[in-house]
Amino acid sequence: MGGNASRRVDSELAMEISGWGRYPRIQATLHEINSVERPPQDLSQGPPLIAYGLGRSYGDSALNAHVLSTRGIARIIHFDREAGLLTCEAGLSLAEAIQEILPRGWFLPVTPGTRFVTMGGAVAADVHGKNHHGAGCFGAHVRELSLLLPNGDVVRCSPEQNSALFRATCGGMGLTGVILTVTLQLLKVGSAYIRETTLKAAHLDEVLAQFDEHAAVPYSVAWIDCLSTRSKLGRAILFLGQHADDGEYTLPRESGIGIPIELPGFILNRYAVRLFQELYYRQFRGRRRERRIHLAPFFYPLDAIHHWNRIYGSRGFLQYQCVLPKSGGAAGLRKILTRTADAALGSFLAVLKLFGAANDNPLSFPMEGYTLALDFKYHSALLGFLDELDHIVADCGGRVYLAKDARMSAEMFRRGYPQWEKFSELRERSGADRTFQSLQSQRLGL
Ligand SMILES: Cc1cc2nc3c(=O)[nH]c(=O)nc-3n(C[C@H](O)[C@H](O)[C@H](O)COP(=O)(O)OP(=O)(O)OC[C@H]3O[C@@H](n4cnc5c(N)ncnc54)[C@H](O)[C@@H]3O)c2cc1C
Repeated sequence: MGGNASRRVDSELAMEISGWGRYPRIQATLHEINSVERPPQDLSQGPPLIAYGLGRSYGDSALNAHVLSTRGIARIIHFDREAGLLTCEAGLSLAEAIQEILPRGWFLPVTPGTRFVTMGGAVAADVHGKNHHGAGCFGAHVRELSLLLPNGDVVRCSPEQNSALFRATCGGMGLTGVILTVTLQLLKVGSAYIRETTLKAAHLDEVLAQFDEHAAVPYSVAWIDCLSTRSKLGRAILFLGQHADDGEYTLPRESGIGIPIELPGFILNRYAVRLFQELYYRQFRGRRRERRIHLAPFFYPLDAIHHWNRIYGSRGFLQYQCVLPKSGGAAGLRKILTRTADAALGSFLAVLKLFGAANDNPLSFPMEGYTLALDFKYHSALLGFLDELDHIVADCGGRVYLAKDARMSAEMFRRGYPQWEKFSELRERSGADRTFQSLQSQRLGL
């Protein structure tokens, strides 16, 4: 640990940390920040560090030998119930925000597939939800941020003020500074319930056509059976949703179910995955199902099982999430799904979403097209296989999501994120390149 570390921040603790995939796991010194009024002074005077929220990024974007936990700054500063404008500290989780806003008829304008992420993490990854095709990324709804720079200055930035810094911070993976506060425009909703329609698709072309046909529905996501091949390649269940309007604002129930220990890796073998995929697809008997469900199981189905990441065993798992542009995207998806089914590495979870237009943020992930996310248990052959998928993605003009990545090469990153140089220049100007580093930024040459 650097000699200055204890003077720079409020407190510190040595521990093993990882992202949600539990690969890689490293020893780190965890520093804490406990006040946005008195933030640490001059972070530049010590070893590089990176902000750490709730560790729900899968790979190494929040990892380094020194990390700065933001969970000590998690207050709601102001909630304008008329205008739906929430100002909060960046360590507040989306789950904590929902407790406050939902009973008053407001919801998050964009939400990822878990509510256990912080506001700062949501901004830093510029997260997307099931409504990207209509609502864009999280950052599109942020009205203002305050950001701690290496020299201890706190700057306000917004789409109008310090806009280049604002855009680089939305999607900037903690590499421009530490986000201290966030002001977010919320979405007015008529209920805590969702009207959900489920459609079955016999193959990839059918589900892509269904996405297009229902593009006016606010939320859509498809589960893909990624072990099916030939005429059934890409068979899927498409979930469509819109907020109900019945005035019932029940809060999500806390689940008591969890995976208490890490399971032996062999349990999740190809046969188990095959069986799961078959049973899951078959449970939807008819071609169409309609129901009213609470927004928690609709948006956050996996949150019901605490520590579900332990089912992948002690070596952890990787999520591969890519986006392919609309033109040529279907052919690229077909190649990826065929390779995945052939490789026998057994992806348990495969999710497909439709993306709307890209934004201007230099490192934001979405672009108009399709995004596919595949979970793989760690295996010695896996990294080489994912490099192969990278080639397919890069040849299609797509890219890989930084919030899920633990292994992409610098070359692949540069191909996928052509604005990386502009981002690097902005970092150099404030000294952020020397102060804020993650294992990921070092690997990607940022
Ligand atoms: C089950 C599950 C489902 C998910 N679904 C989606 C999804 O649908 N869409 C999607 O986009 N993502 C999704 N994610 C990814 C997740 O939303 C992002 O990785 C998010 O960034 C995690 O937030 P966190 O608070 O856990 O941040 P961490 O994982 O701790 O950090 C993530 C990044 O944010 C930076 N960061 C965190 N806090 C700050 C801060 N205060 N200031 C500056 N930088 C900061 C870190 O340095 C790091 O680079 C999912 C993750 C899980 C586990």
